[in-house]
Amino acid sequence: MENKKEMRTWLDDMKLNHPLVIAGPCSAETEEQVLKIAHELKDTDVNYFRAGIWKPRTRPGNFEGVGALGLKWLQKVKEETGMKTCTEVANAAHVKLALEHDVDLLWIGARSTVSPFIMQEIADALEGTDKIVLVKNPVNPDLSLWLGGIERLYSAGVKNLGAIHRGFSTYEKSKYRNIPEWQVAIEFQNKFPDLPLINDPSHITGNREMIFDVSQTALDLNFDGLMIETHFDPENAWSDAAQQVTPSSLIQIMNDLKIRKETDSEAQYNSELNNLRAQIDVVDNQILDLLGKRMKVADGIGGLKKQKNVAVLQSKRWNEILGKMVLEGEERGLSEEFILRMFKAVHQESINRQEKIING
Ligand code: PEP
Ligand code: MN
Repeated sequence: MENKKEMRTWLDDMKLNHPLVIAGPCSAETEEQVLKIAHELKDTDVNYFRAGIWKPRTRPGNFEGVGALGLKWLQKVKEETGMKTCTEVANAAHVKLALEHDVDLLWIGARSTVSPFIMQEIADALEGTDKIVLVKNPVNPDLSLWLGGIERLYSAGVKNLGAIHRGFSTYEKSKYRNIPEWQVAIEFQNKFPDLPLINDPSHITGNREMIFDVSQTALDLNFDGLMIETHFDPENAWSDAAQQVTPSSLIQIMNDLKIRKETDSEAQYNSELNNLRAQIDVVDNQILDLLGKRMKVADGIGGLKKQKNVAVLQSKRWNEILGKMVLEGEERGLSEEFILRMFKAVHQESINRQEKIING
């Protein structure tokens, strides 16, 4: 599917002078909770009020949402505050109910995007709708599944589309709940430059302390908006307690974010520069992560050599590797001199660490 400008008309039509903001609790818990949060968000820059009605929980036995009853509460939000509403749908029955209750925007969760059967069922149920539909990235960093979800909806005649980047799950523990893998979002933008892309720092971080930084990176990477889980009493939320912020923190975050509103050529230059710098930061962090991993592996080799009383430096193997790296570097446009300098430094660091291990 080639890129379609019509997919972003809904966002352009809003003529916002700030990124789109979707906020509200992870889950609708009670009517009072939903309405209280909505009233606190009413006179802010928030554009859509979110609340999960059907909650996909990884393990059974947790709060799984209030169900269709919550749709009545979202209708009340609209009546009382005038805010537009949104919720997650995960099957045809959800879609039918949400459309009947006039929810303004629907999103498809990360655990649904992974399943082409579910995506197709949802797309069929949404056929021809003019509602806005946002597709979260799948839980695994598979760009095709994400694009496939959008394509299924587009083919079903859904034209008001967008995507939400909520990070990816990993087996290894990290400081994130779902690692951002920004390069996947950048690739997504390259494939569909006109498709609105929203960042969800809440599910990426799993931790309210990190929401600001991830939001800023997203804006520097030209994301069109943010979805931030917001609750008046985050600690006691029935789901995702650690990552929700209060309405006043949300306002603070929105005020502190550097948002470039100007459209003159200087601003264009700055915005492009910031975007490229943010991409460099992402890659530099990946290089650091990889170097850290490499040194851990080298430590393991040091341990083995110690057991067997083998010398640290194995020159023959190292010279073979270096020759291969020079060739592979050349294929990537990297000079021999650079490759030699860089890998010698990396190798030296490994040797220093192994020597410490062997003599330690
Ligand atoms: C949510 O938005 O509350 C949610 C369940 O998100 P995700 O599908 O990203 O896990
Ligand atoms: Mn949540």
